Amino acid sequence: MNIGVLSLQGAFLKHMHLLKTIGVNPVNVRYSDDLSNLHGLIIPGGESTVLSKLIMKQSLYEPLEKYISKYPVYGTCAGLILLSKTIENNKLVRSFEKLDISIKRNAWGRQINSFISNLKIKEFDKTFKGIFIRAPKINKVSLNVDILSSINNSPVMVRQGNLLGTTFHPELSNDIRIHKYFLSMVESC
Ligand code: GLN
Repeated sequence: MNIGVLSLQGAFLKHMHLLKTIGVNPVNVRYSDDLSNLHGLIIPGGESTVLSKLIMKQSLYEPLEKYISKYPVYGTCAGLILLSKTIENNKLVRSFEKLDISIKRNAWGRQINSFISNLKIKEFDKTFKGIFIRAPKINKVSLNVDILSSINNSPVMVRQGNLLGTTFHPELSNDIRIHKYFLSMVESC
């Protein structure tokens, strides 16, 4: 199975590594041609303003938008910001407006307020160590979005059909379960 990882900026190497350990062929995505022959795509965390700029520079906005409308895509942190329908405090990011949530960037505070939380996730037996780095907050979700995990009623993992999003970085937790969950979405697509 080929899973693409958008490799313009941010935490893409860790995702590639984790995918390899679970028997998937990870593919760097930097140009529109890289999107052919993929079964799914991960948009990693990083800095959404920079990612957005690079997406425009590489003429990737339209090809990615088409891809996201059709195939399974998982966005972590900045990647989730790019998938969100509404970004509340936004001037610089052009999102794909696909996942029906409203999100606020850097809403848990600055880098120094980054934190770890043991999350209860729907369908997982044991808690998951969620690593939050200048994470966004999901403030609204529409009825067709499934909330898979929350902290104090604030959703941190959501799914809408083929789209999965976490406001934290599972690729840093040494835990393969969320990537495996995404693979199961890809397999059933
Ligand atoms: N704060 C970053 C942003 O707004 C996201 C941080 C991350 O991806 N860890 O894009």
